[in-house]
Amino acid sequence: MRSLSELRFSVLTLFPELFGPVLQSSLVGKAAAKGLVSFDLHQIRDFTTDKHRTVDDTPFGGGEGMLLKPDVLYSAWEKAGGQRPAPAGSATILLSPQGKPFTQQMGKELAGYRHLILVCGHYEGVDERFIELCVDREVSIGDYVLTGGELPALVMIDVITRLLPGVVGNEQSVARDSLEEDLLKYPQYTRPREFMGLPVPEVLLSGDHGAIARWRRDQQLERTARKRPDLKKNPR
Ligand code: SAM
Repeated sequence: MRSLSELRFSVLTLFPELFGPVLQSSLVGKAAAKGLVSFDLHQIRDFTTDKHRTVDDTPFGGGEGMLLKPDVLYSAWEKAGGQRPAPAGSATILLSPQGKPFTQQMGKELAGYRHLILVCGHYEGVDERFIELCVDREVSIGDYVLTGGELPALVMIDVITRLLPGVVGNEQSVARDSLEEDLLKYPQYTRPREFMGLPVPEVLLSGDHGAIARWRRDQQLERTARKRPDLKKNPR
């Protein structure tokens, strides 16, 4: 695991106002306050050069929708620190339904970077030349199409930040999350001991740590096989 150091996220977006509440709240806000992560938001429209502040235009060859212009995006990207070749520990990521599916594993890999530039598309998407020139990878958060890349960028920021050393108080808690080892987490209970006729499983009250660990492992295997058989690195 790497030592505590800052990961910088630069976000290129037409809607920077969507980010504030999430980046200032909860674990992500605390991580920023501790200096483990930092954010700079770049309003793409600020990089236009015409009096109408045009960020998009119609596709050559016809077709529906509008595309984000490559010249405007390029200026925003340079301002965010984008360089070719990308400096070590830095990458430019375009949020896109055409991208590689985002997973916990990819989140862990990206948590090892120093600077991630996240580009949020909008409208019909992005001129292909910007992708060719500046984008290291395209990432999708799932097989559906959102209006823009802002929610996907926030999903990535949340997942990656949570995986940075020092962000979650008890690192064991991250190590035991669902999807670690390709297994779902075991069922968990808190007080009261009985709720609407349903008791907490006896073993969890036994104080026998070996028995508790075995029960939890069995539960993980059983529920992974039942709920997510596709995750089957499952030793069962
Ligand atoms: N016409 C595009 C296509 O078919 O690939 C979809 C454009 S979508 C309406 C607008 C923007 O939302 C995309 O450029 C991308 O940044 C973002 N977006 C939409 N769905 C996404 C997903 N599943 N994962 C990541 N980003 C997504």
